[in-house]
Amino acid sequence: MRTIGLIGGMSWVSTAEYYRLINEGVADQLGGLHSAKIVLESVDFAEIEELKLANRWDLVAGRLAAAAQRLEASGAGLIVLCTNTMHHVAPSIEAAVTVPFVHIADTTASAITATGLTRVGLLGTAFTMEQDFYVDRVASHGIEVLVPSADDRARISAIIYDELCHDVVTADSKAFYLAATERLVEAGAQGLVLGCTEIELLIGADDLEVPAFDTTSLHVTAAVDLALA
Ligand code: GLU
Repeated sequence: MRTIGLIGGMSWVSTAEYYRLINEGVADQLGGLHSAKIVLESVDFAEIEELKLANRWDLVAGRLAAAAQRLEASGAGLIVLCTNTMHHVAPSIEAAVTVPFVHIADTTASAITATGLTRVGLLGTAFTMEQDFYVDRVASHGIEVLVPSADDRARISAIIYDELCHDVVTADSKAFYLAATERLVEAGAQGLVLGCTEIELLIGADDLEVPAFDTTSLHVTAAVDLALA
């Protein structure tokens, strides 16, 4: 089994989910008392947020690439960045290490392609919904990506940073996410990408009429499969 290197803390709430889901995935496949070999580099999210809001993606890239290098030096055989948004700097991380980097948008796109759907809605942070790095990467797999209106995007993103990243889940926010999803479905979305690693805490497949693509679970499955390959 390869050791999985996690770059986490963005937020710690979803990193805890990664830790749980990866261990469950390994136990499911290997049985008994098997659990995952994991090394974790957990950042102080406030420091990263400050750089991000100052548009210093170069410094964010440097910090996360250095974290990936420390993981590789600690024996990680693959690298998993536990956030969609920070995949903005995925190319710098990938270039800094010699072990595989499991890209969250690729694992999501593969799952969508496997279902035969060609047009999906995307919920995530404003960065993920509005910048090219994510939408274009999914689109490069032949999938059309619909994003919510500007008003919906602002509230969806605020709920992530003000509530979900603090482990706060409210019925109001859930209702808003479901209403925003409904609008995407009316606009033609055949499925919904939960494109932020905290969203699965708020809504999931059971709440939706269309197939859900939960990026956290899909990312974990790809990482576990690679670790055990
Ligand atoms: N965990 C989130 C994501 O998947 C948002 C936090 C961040 O800005 O990294 O995008």
